Amino acid sequence: MINKVSLTQFIIEQQRGLPDATGTFSLLLNNIVTACKEISHLVNRGNLVGVLGSADSENVQGEVQKKLDIITNDIMVNALNWTGHLAGMASEEVDDIIDIPENYPKGKYLALFDPLDGSSNIDVNLAVGTIFSILHCPEGIKPKVEDFLLKGVEQVCAGFVLYGPSTMMVLTTGHGVNGFTLDQDIGEFILTHPNMRIPEETNEFAINMSNQRFWEPPVQRYIDECLQGKDGPRGKNFNMRWIASLVAEVYRILTRGGVFLYPSDLRDSSKPGRLRLMYEANPMAFIMEQAGGACSTGFERILEIKPTHIHQRVPLILGSKNEVERIVAYHQES
Ligand code: MN
Ligand code: MN
Repeated sequence: MINKVSLTQFIIEQQRGLPDATGTFSLLLNNIVTACKEISHLVNRGNLVGVLGSADSENVQGEVQKKLDIITNDIMVNALNWTGHLAGMASEEVDDIIDIPENYPKGKYLALFDPLDGSSNIDVNLAVGTIFSILHCPEGIKPKVEDFLLKGVEQVCAGFVLYGPSTMMVLTTGHGVNGFTLDQDIGEFILTHPNMRIPEETNEFAINMSNQRFWEPPVQRYIDECLQGKDGPRGKNFNMRWIASLVAEVYRILTRGGVFLYPSDLRDSSKPGRLRLMYEANPMAFIMEQAGGACSTGFERILEIKPTHIHQRVPLILGSKNEVERIVAYHQES
């Protein structure tokens, strides 16, 4: 019989090896897992339970919310607010930070999440996900927005769940990256992808080509060289992928390498990028670096950005280290 290691066992054993581990963190993670199992179930049931389609509302980013954006946000909030492990929360779908209700005890962590990443994919039955990031909160304070605005290097833990053909959780606490598959029969995430490493060499890139006319010269140059294939300066042919769901793109890159770009472009100088630093770029950057990859805006390591706003957007370039470094070099040369 194969010895199966559940996510709970894995985390508890990992925590045991650390000084001053209290077990609080494993409990917090367990609550996130519970929320993600519920989301997995809902996403899987789809319109059998009437959860697809748009809600009649927009989020703080001015994007039309899907019904599931709101439902999954409520699932995350309700799974985490009572636990006593958190001092506060922030969600992509909520304008302000989310306080822990007065009647519940407060803890020493902050949870930030994108409850349903890639939600435009949900109505067409393609992959979506949940992304989360855990930060420390100074003890005994009621956190204000400024207390959330920590650099990505300060993250205690980051992870995402991909609701694809299988439901998978990918997790880092700063000791490598591990992948767990949800065993629907027993309701547990099981360690199936220990120590995930991103291949350094790749011939795959992912970018929304329809924005090409707005890209800045370094990105134009990089993609142009890829497109020239064997006859160009790279001397090899490239493939293109575009799933329009960050969790799915990142999972592919973790599995077989590649590079993903949502660069800054010339459409609107007030919006330097599209993806959110706190809910998307930081957790994915932590995972990328822990798996041997890299993550940058083109000019700056994502994890070193000092956030100015909880809903701040940034340009995002991530994936195989050599490719990200090449793109960063093109930015420096320009
Ligand atoms: Mn998202
Ligand atoms: Mn979302």
